Amino acid sequence: MLSSNTTLFSSLSRRMASRVAGTATRGMASIEPYEDYGKHLFTGAVAEEYLAKHGASAALLKDPTWTQHSADTVAAAVLDWAVDNGANVYCHWFQPMASSGVRHGQTGQVQNMMMEFCREEGKIKFDFKGKDLIKGETDGSSYPNGGLRATHTAGGYLAVDTSSPIFLRGDTIFIPSTFVSYYGAALDEKTPLLRANEALSKNGTRLLKLLGYEVDSLQANIGLEQEIFLIPRDQYYRRPDIQLTGRTVIGKNAPRGQEMCDHYMAPLSSATAALDCMREIQEECWKMGIPLKTRHREVAPNQFEFAPLFGTNTTQIDQNIWVMQIIEEVAARHGLAALLQEKPFNDVNGSGKHNNWSIGTNTGINLLNPGQVSKASGNDELFGIVMAAIVSAVDTHGDLMRMAIASPGNDFRLGACEAPPAIVSTYLGEDMTSYLEGFKNGTGGAYNPTTKTLDLGTSSVLPFEVPAEDRNRTSPFPYGGARFEFRAVGSSQNVSMVNTVLNTITAEKFGEFADKIEAGASPADVAKEALDAHWKVIFNGNNYDEAAQQELTDRGVWRIDSGVEAINTLVSEKNIALFEKMKIFSEEECSARAAILHDHYAGTVEMEALTLIDMINQHIIPSCKAGGVGPLADLEAAVGTLKSAVAEIHAAESSYEKAQLSRVLRLETMIDIRETCDAAEEIVPANLWTLATYKELLFLDSHVDAPVGDFYD
Ligand code: ADP
Ligand code: MG
Repeated sequence: MLSSNTTLFSSLSRRMASRVAGTATRGMASIEPYEDYGKHLFTGAVAEEYLAKHGASAALLKDPTWTQHSADTVAAAVLDWAVDNGANVYCHWFQPMASSGVRHGQTGQVQNMMMEFCREEGKIKFDFKGKDLIKGETDGSSYPNGGLRATHTAGGYLAVDTSSPIFLRGDTIFIPSTFVSYYGAALDEKTPLLRANEALSKNGTRLLKLLGYEVDSLQANIGLEQEIFLIPRDQYYRRPDIQLTGRTVIGKNAPRGQEMCDHYMAPLSSATAALDCMREIQEECWKMGIPLKTRHREVAPNQFEFAPLFGTNTTQIDQNIWVMQIIEEVAARHGLAALLQEKPFNDVNGSGKHNNWSIGTNTGINLLNPGQVSKASGNDELFGIVMAAIVSAVDTHGDLMRMAIASPGNDFRLGACEAPPAIVSTYLGEDMTSYLEGFKNGTGGAYNPTTKTLDLGTSSVLPFEVPAEDRNRTSPFPYGGARFEFRAVGSSQNVSMVNTVLNTITAEKFGEFADKIEAGASPADVAKEALDAHWKVIFNGNNYDEAAQQELTDRGVWRIDSGVEAINTLVSEKNIALFEKMKIFSEEECSARAAILHDHYAGTVEMEALTLIDMINQHIIPSCKAGGVGPLADLEAAVGTLKSAVAEIHAAESSYEKAQLSRVLRLETMIDIRETCDAAEEIVPANLWTLATYKELLFLDSHVDAPVGDFYD
């Protein structure tokens, strides 16, 4: 491991260095090494160069009808680009339903060569036509479909998603696509998202027009902060639970955890493989046009974070899925294993994916930026009305926001002082809250965010301006100046459903506001009425405080502690009506999705339980026997308990029931059994314990035999 890493480190460093023109000096920053930025993304200047050769321009790609009249032209340009960059394979790249958590990657694809094999001439030539680009048919019938496809109605179609550009990686181009059944039912994560984008744009532009501000379209912009763990790969191979399920199902705490928060934003030391791994991840991303700008250590030992520059939601989600895949692949090259699961370790923080969300016009105005929107629209009330709609949406449909973050991993995180609790309120800050109070009292008007001056009392640091608003990291959905930040999202999630929900619930309120204004109500009155009805969802205090949680619960703010129950809200009468009205899901699609999410939950728990059985039988019991210590009888009984719980789940009738039983197994039975296993770990002599311990898994900084490269030369 050591020698291969050293070689890799040096070759990478040399690669970076050699791109700095005319100098061998390491550490000299230059734009040149980044000239490859976006070279592997078919958009903008890259697309322009290749389309121009075929008499077209990149502007063509902005109008989705190119798929009808110019598919051959685009295909020819894409083929040239692919070949110039060493690719001769293509695939329609899609995101099957519920594709989050522990899967072998979160996307589906069948890769085909862009070649024609001419038997008679005995020749091969490049071949990629418009028809190959825009549509694919796939069997793909083994994907979960929740009853939307039977073996005898199994047609599945892939159609190019024109909202997200084609990627190139290695010898393959990846065409972002939607995946639907023969009858057009969504079988993927992306189709509903695209429908929700449509609903947001349609209802939003209609409302804005009534408020005197005309724009062609709206789009949701998001930025996804991605938290991960990086652990030593040799220790990863000594943990069947991490390998198969992404988390430790047992493991005694190490004497050191995150008590001192000393990992948080600590130096990215070159003494471990993590820094070079993160650099290589960024380098791969840049080539694919993924602007992964930010990197830092997070609060748990061995926990790290990346964040990109925000952009349109479909592209950001496609890119986030790549980021997750690239992280896993690059980590392996550095002797590390990347863990994307929400709660890999007990008693230290788990990982999230903050979903920063705002709404932009096609003219580049951010509707959540008060100054910008007042200036562009000339309507001082517009911002307050948009905020009133969003506040109402969160209050009415907090259950769906909770549903969208329901995953097995997130069940361990929510409310545990590392992610906000499962009560969906919103933080607006005092300043904004009092501005909206003005609307409630009929004073309305413009919102001018104030600032304050911080004076540190030293002449070495001059007084400086800061926003009047503090930040609240305990809220699941705080407003942060020009965006909302959905902070409770899980790290391994495909966030399509999260954004489908945010856009759908906002679209509904935009539509309702527009209806009332069209019927003669004044916009200010509509906002006032909505704020009066939904004020209870605004909470600016500490969401971790139990008394506050009780208060919010008593107020009737949506609170769903169980992920399994949260998933079930997909099929409530209110929510089916919402999705049907906004044309996102039919009732059948809602039920299918709920069933798939429940199956995903139960399937995950089954893997965890079976892994625990193996670990007890193959590791813990033999270690106890070898040491002549430990709760042998309890361990043997635990195996029986686990086996019968799994059998009971198998015997349950519905997906919902299986998921309910699984949740009890995981959060009650398995936690009790864990205590027995951890008690054994505590007393078995270290040399007889055959599983990697938290001490071995969590402290790269204490494993400094990792390669030391020339990064700081
Ligand atoms: P913090 O940890 O303070 O929230 P980061 O810089 O780590 O900040 O991440 C913030 C994320 O929010 C980035 O991905 C950033 O691009 C994104 N972001 C910033 N402004 C907006 C906006 N108006 N709309 C959507 N995302 C945004
Ligand atoms: Mg953040």
